[in-house]
Amino acid sequence: MNSPARRTRFIDPFQPAEIRRLVKEFGSPLLILDCERVRVQFRKLRKALPGVDLHYALKPMPHAAVVRTVLEEGGFLDLATTGEVQLVQRLGVAADRCIHTHPIKREQDIRNAISFGVRTFVADNPDEVRKFARHAGRVQLLLRVSFRHPGAMCDLSRKFGCDPEDVLPLARLAADLGIGVRGLSFHVGSQAVDSAKHVEALNACAQLMAAARRDRLGALDTLDIGGGFPIDYAQPVQDVSRFCAPLRTALAKLPKRVRVIAEPGRFIVGPSAIGVASVMGRARREGHWWYYLDDGLYGSYSGQIYDHARYPVEPLRNGAQRLPSVLAGPTCDSIDVIAENLMLPELKAGDLIVGRAMGAYTWASASEFNFFPRATVVAVNAQPGDTGSVNPFPL
Ligand SMILES: *Cc1c(COP(=O)(O)O)cnc(C)c1O
Repeated sequence: MNSPARRTRFIDPFQPAEIRRLVKEFGSPLLILDCERVRVQFRKLRKALPGVDLHYALKPMPHAAVVRTVLEEGGFLDLATTGEVQLVQRLGVAADRCIHTHPIKREQDIRNAISFGVRTFVADNPDEVRKFARHAGRVQLLLRVSFRHPGAMCDLSRKFGCDPEDVLPLARLAADLGIGVRGLSFHVGSQAVDSAKHVEALNACAQLMAAARRDRLGALDTLDIGGGFPIDYAQPVQDVSRFCAPLRTALAKLPKRVRVIAEPGRFIVGPSAIGVASVMGRARREGHWWYYLDDGLYGSYSGQIYDHARYPVEPLRNGAQRLPSVLAGPTCDSIDVIAENLMLPELKAGDLIVGRAMGAYTWASASEFNFFPRATVVAVNAQPGDTGSVNPFPL
């Protein structure tokens, strides 16, 4: 039996000795997910956005241990697919803690989510609003608005969201069909550099909500400010409290009746996991050591392609002499190179390589190309005092 004092002392699974122990127990490649860091991230964001309900978006890391930890912290969930609905259903999550935010859904996806008990959905166009006509009275909609940034490097409101001027006509259509509109939502894009776009979108939505109420198009008392909260990778970013300061000012000006929610994904899980890979073999090519790892661009490092992220990588081995080195993934494809021009101590087969900030959009987008299995996810500190593991659920 653990004493209470012992139960609140967590192990740090990112320390070298613990990493080695976990690899010995669970094999390689591993993704070590520290639920204590999930708690810390959740609390930091809650403190930076007081009064805002945080719905963890499952997409960056759809793992049971994260879902449980967020719920234990008093958080909510943001689901987007039938697979995510089934995951939380298996875990016995209360449906009233979940919203469904995919703007485009098949009829079956809507039915699955409703039969689980979800009542809040997102729509951004007339066809999608009409899909809810047969469910009117049982559901409420958030209308997703897009705020285009034609000058921005990547215009992140391109794929989803209606133009601000389409909000009132959409709300009118919903009202005519007897479908309740609960409010508006937006997502300005992931890993935002500052909160200027959030603030701009928030103010525009506040005006639209007031206009819709004046036109008696619904109660519109919920504003969903999406995700996008940034984390440190190789480049450090603003700390989250500073990032959110302009948002707090804007939120304070909203009418009291407006309930604000957010959908953080990356911020909750990104810093909460490290990737651990092993050197399978090595070769000297043109004056460089090439190390071939058992995880790569088709696996946990897929985020370097899809998410444009660069993870800080380092070997667990120390050594005074550093040599020009390349870290490559295991597959037979030439694109599968994680990092070049690194100065590393000389490594041998079996040495471990650690990638930091690898919780978000890594394992989630990994494939098993060439039959190299995805990393095993090991969740540590899932409960106070519990150093046990949670293996990947069947997808
Ligand atoms: C992906 C996604 C999120 C999470 O975004 P982050 O940038 O990871 O915080 C939130 N909401 C929706 C609708 C999403 O698609």
